[in-house]
Amino acid sequence: MKRSEYLKRSREFRSYLQSEAAKPEAERRFPTRPEDWFSVEAILTCTTPTCVVRGQGFSHSIKENADGVYRAVCGRCHTPITDINLQLEED
Ligand SMILES: [Zn+2]
Repeated sequence: MKRSEYLKRSREFRSYLQSEAAKPEAERRFPTRPEDWFSVEAILTCTTPTCVVRGQGFSHSIKENADGVYRAVCGRCHTPITDINLQLEED
């Protein structure tokens, strides 16, 4: 995905999530299928010193959140991953 397309789509999706979250709970409509949730490819690297996959980058699709913060957890040590590099093409 191109960086400009990502910025536009992620901003729109976050705005949509925030508007739904502002509604009374019974009226909120969030995507029910994972493929309908805006996501982007990223390289995730665990930095936990004792983890067997420390320093190895894994390609994974990660989902947009209303606050704009991407979250992922290492599949081996189950620690939150802080090294998340979005795979975007420059325009
Ligand atoms: Zn790990």
